[in-house]
Amino acid sequence: MKKISILGSTGSIGRQSLEVARLLRLEVEAISAYRDIDRLEAQAREFKPKIAAVYDEKAAAELKTRLADTETRVISGMEGLIETAAGTDAEAVVTAVVGTVGLKPTMAAIAEKKRIALANKETLVCAGRIVMEAADRFGAEILPVDSEHSAIFQCLMGNRVKYIKRILLTASGGPFRGKKAYELENVTAEDALAHPTWSMGSKITVDSATLMNKGQELIEAMHLFKVPPERIKVLIHPQSIVHSMVEYTDNSIIAQLGVPDMRLPIQFALTYPERLPSLEREMDFVSSAPLTFEEPDTEAFKCLPLAVDCAARDDAACAVMSAANEEAVGLFLKGSIGFMRIYEVVARAVDRLGGMSAETVEDILAADAEARIFVRKA
Ligand code: MG
Repeated sequence: MKKISILGSTGSIGRQSLEVARLLRLEVEAISAYRDIDRLEAQAREFKPKIAAVYDEKAAAELKTRLADTETRVISGMEGLIETAAGTDAEAVVTAVVGTVGLKPTMAAIAEKKRIALANKETLVCAGRIVMEAADRFGAEILPVDSEHSAIFQCLMGNRVKYIKRILLTASGGPFRGKKAYELENVTAEDALAHPTWSMGSKITVDSATLMNKGQELIEAMHLFKVPPERIKVLIHPQSIVHSMVEYTDNSIIAQLGVPDMRLPIQFALTYPERLPSLEREMDFVSSAPLTFEEPDTEAFKCLPLAVDCAARDDAACAVMSAANEEAVGLFLKGSIGFMRIYEVVARAVDRLGGMSAETVEDILAADAEARIFVRKA
């Protein structure tokens, strides 16, 4: 890979993708932001992309004025995101936007046979069946950027899918690991945002605290590796050193390990099958804490079994779950609802709307919109 584009370059994964691009001297063809034009302007001046897209129209107009002295073309709206993903000669696209806003641009990039370095959760959680079918049809590669899925992908290299007994998906357990349901009633957004091992955006950090993030990762793994949900086991591993494992028919287990640093999975998704020196620190087994594993507590963290249920249904149930969760987490971060209410609200939305149709991207977006309205009313 020589040329890449980044959908959502101002967020946590987007910025780390640019660090990787800087290290590997990749050409960055296009970048995009929701509306953080200060950061996007700085990125455009350093990486000189052909396109800088801003979803927000007003902010796009402002950036256009600011970048008038450069060669970078500033575009806006959903069209701008689609151009970022599919409209340049980038060979790979890092999809690092948050939300279903990433769905159409990703589908456009798949149709252009670009490699998708997938960091947008909603792509597979909400529309996994549709997206994987399109990727198979166009022959586009989807390489996971999430640390767990990158690990599973690496554990599968050189092995056949038919010999997989189960996938062992590891989870840090988040800041509330070991707490019982009653102890979680009064935790605040601030408590939830103190993640012990990974530094991430606030929405995904709350999702780690509820274990919804792990549930969504289970759905993604099911689609990416074509393994049914009952053969994916979540294991709590607080040190976040074993990024996931694959157990084979003969009970041999292959694990991928490393210091927690997203720049490695980002880089591997871009350089695969090559392995190049990276920004990741070397692992020191002797001085690192013992590696421990425990069962997840599905009574205190009910979002996990809820996601497993949705995984066994179809894209619509997962889309409703994901959208309802995003709204509920937003309400929690604002202090409007308590931590345990996140699960209750999401479960009710799935119960009410999980049976919607899921044949097309439009169906998925409709299920997403309905779920959001439901949560706001509830
Ligand atoms: Mg992860």
